[in-house]
Amino acid sequence: MAVDAPAGFNRTFSYSIPSELDIIPGHLVAVPFGARTLFGLVFSIAENPKVIETKEIFNALFPSPILDRIQLDLARWISVYYMAPLFSSASLMLPPGFRSGLKEVLTISQNNNVVLNKNLSKSEKQVLALLQLEDGIERKLLLKLIGDHAGKDVQCLLNNGLIKKNYYWWPQTGKYKKSVKLSMELQYKINETLEQLSKKAPKQAALISYLAKQRSDIVSLSKLSKTFGYSSVKALQKKNLLEITNVQIEEGPLAGKIFPSDNPHELTFAQYQAIGKIKNAINDESDSNKIFLLHGITGSGKTEVYLNAVQKCIKKGKRAIILVPEISLTPQTIERFASRFPGEIAVLHSKLTQSQLAHQWWSIKNGRYRIVIGPRSAVFAPQPNLGLLVIDEEHEWTYKEEEQSPRYHARGIALKIAELNGLTVILGSATPDISTYYHALNGRICLLELPSRINIGQKETKQLNPLDKGLPSVTIVDMRKELRDGNRSIFSRALLSNMEVTLNRGEQIIIFLNRRGSATFVQCKNCGYSFRCRNCAVGLTYHREIDSLLCHYCNKKTLLPKECPKCQNVNIKTIGFGTDYVVESIKKYFPTVKILRWDRDTTKSPKAHEILLSTFQEHRADILVGTQMVAKGLDIPNVTLVGVVSADTGLNLPDFRSGEKAFQLLSQISGRAGRGVTMGTVIIQTFQPDHYAVNAVASQNFLKFYETEIVYRREYRNPPFNRLIRLLYTNANSITCESACSALANILVTERDLSGFLGIDILGPTPSFPSRLKGYYRWHIILRGSKPELLLNKIMVPRGWTIEVDPVTVM
Ligand code: ADP
Ligand code: ZN
Repeated sequence: MAVDAPAGFNRTFSYSIPSELDIIPGHLVAVPFGARTLFGLVFSIAENPKVIETKEIFNALFPSPILDRIQLDLARWISVYYMAPLFSSASLMLPPGFRSGLKEVLTISQNNNVVLNKNLSKSEKQVLALLQLEDGIERKLLLKLIGDHAGKDVQCLLNNGLIKKNYYWWPQTGKYKKSVKLSMELQYKINETLEQLSKKAPKQAALISYLAKQRSDIVSLSKLSKTFGYSSVKALQKKNLLEITNVQIEEGPLAGKIFPSDNPHELTFAQYQAIGKIKNAINDESDSNKIFLLHGITGSGKTEVYLNAVQKCIKKGKRAIILVPEISLTPQTIERFASRFPGEIAVLHSKLTQSQLAHQWWSIKNGRYRIVIGPRSAVFAPQPNLGLLVIDEEHEWTYKEEEQSPRYHARGIALKIAELNGLTVILGSATPDISTYYHALNGRICLLELPSRINIGQKETKQLNPLDKGLPSVTIVDMRKELRDGNRSIFSRALLSNMEVTLNRGEQIIIFLNRRGSATFVQCKNCGYSFRCRNCAVGLTYHREIDSLLCHYCNKKTLLPKECPKCQNVNIKTIGFGTDYVVESIKKYFPTVKILRWDRDTTKSPKAHEILLSTFQEHRADILVGTQMVAKGLDIPNVTLVGVVSADTGLNLPDFRSGEKAFQLLSQISGRAGRGVTMGTVIIQTFQPDHYAVNAVASQNFLKFYETEIVYRREYRNPPFNRLIRLLYTNANSITCESACSALANILVTERDLSGFLGIDILGPTPSFPSRLKGYYRWHIILRGSKPELLLNKIMVPRGWTIEVDPVTVM
């Protein structure tokens, strides 16, 4: 059994099953653990326990097993692979907020005899008296009624056997509302009843005729009581003419929304070929080719392939899960699924309330929806009879859980589920993860290509070059040359003139800069003092709107001082710029155009994304300035120009994936241009025009990028040629932090040499980036090898270390 307590990964505990309980693997139970009562999840049942003494399970919390055999296997695998406790690995598949549902209920025992009762204390009698009134009372409530001091009385009574305790689980399942409907009985004799009532009880008669006229056969009790009086409702209920029931309020995020209906497109040849293979995988259980990489440039019709595949899956009577990188940034994807499959979509969303989440989860478990759309955690949605799992933009790093254990990757989970239950997986991307593409070229994943944009045939032919795939034309502008030629503006001449032309044609523009705020650095002009966060080892960013300095790591706000804290000079300058500064600069050149800004500062309210999107979509603004938030799924045909103010942020980060990440982001943002019938233009400004990632974006050639990158990966023994495990240590004291790291590194080196795992590299310890975060110093060690976990499994990693298997950042 896995128990909900901190424990080493894959650690289980043995319990005995009381003879009256019928327990099988997958059952969620309450178990004693030390002095506490905790959740336990039964993984296997043995005739003879491994330990001599076992405690008894209290009781099962849910009548049927909450996890099935495949889910239990998956939890075991997560625990071993990602080195996380078994219960927390399984908890990814339990209902949201399950922990708040465990309740201890006290009841009077049968053998409550008078003789014993005589010796009871006054307060013990008080407890008994209260329990006698009710069938059972939750311990918490009882202590609230009598006072906490009654805790020991309860314990005495339990020990004497005068009262019993039992554990129950009432997980939240959504909101319910008391509703009223006409009873079956009444429906047959409605006219005569109305006639009888109309004289004696006109209010009741009015109520019945009101209900009879309603379209929906359930009406809220509180609404009816307000109009007709609660007593009328009750009177009718007594006569069996009305029924009062608890009705679940539909709380899905799509509830009440209406989507334009949408019919499947006639497929292009490339789409048709792709679907052919996917269809075989879905229909033929024995087909071993079940994992696909759908590689298609932006606008090549990948989503249409997903839609089609889902249709095939539904036709087989199965269900689907669609993963998207971030729900709020991909409203258009959800809209397309909701239009094609009205009423069939559940959406899991990090911004849902606990009750909405719970409602979606239980509805999914009960088989209410054919399709679930959600972020990485939706890979664990309890979708029955799952046949297809799609991961859109599979290269996105949001699919990796980085904050808390288990630090899983949704792609890793999807592939494991596929292995366990034979479902079909489609990984889709315009710029696949280097490792995914490597496995596709090597045949471990089936590669499907969509080589050109859908609407290529409709483009203005004069602009179309036959080798073209309908992608926008990309120009790289060397900002060093702009400076040399005396242009000190943040915009190159090429970008400015293209903006003017585009605006004159009534078309729209997206300007991208991966940095928010007004200035990146703030520095004293006299002594060079630069303003840095006190908690994090990073510079502070100036935000004009709040006239303050902000740390982008810990969010701490400080007022901009009037003078330098070091030399008291009043000349303080700002260096670098962010999205807010870009907006101000555009206004100087084009004072009358309407500009929108889309970044973390302008999207604090939950509806902000939707509002910004529709404003821009309906052309109530000409220019959209934004961070990577605008790079994701935007499909706005009237956008014909994309300008990247600086491609340099991120290019030189100390991470072997910085080139890959820059390439993905720049390709994605370029793909926002020219999605309609007019050809698009992309202008990328950079101080490093020769960087291989920038070059590959210019030629819009993924394969070219891949071929350069894979050589670096092989040379430096990085993934996909090896696997990495990162060990991160944080401490408020820098010396403690460093010495803890050296100590572990020494242990690792000694163990490696002893056990002969010479193929495993131990990199570091080195400071992580940023080297201090929210007041904590950060150091890390990286293990690299084909099986780095072999070394780690040999030693005891001390407390306080974070273990990250297959990390997506190694800075
Ligand atoms: P991607 O997901 O690769 O970016 P989409 O599936 O969004 O591409 O397709 C781009 C556009 O082309 C969308 O507006 C979509 O409705 C349209 N489209 C996709 N497939 C077809 C098709 N076979 N025929 C006509 N239009 C299509
Ligand atoms: Zn900070």
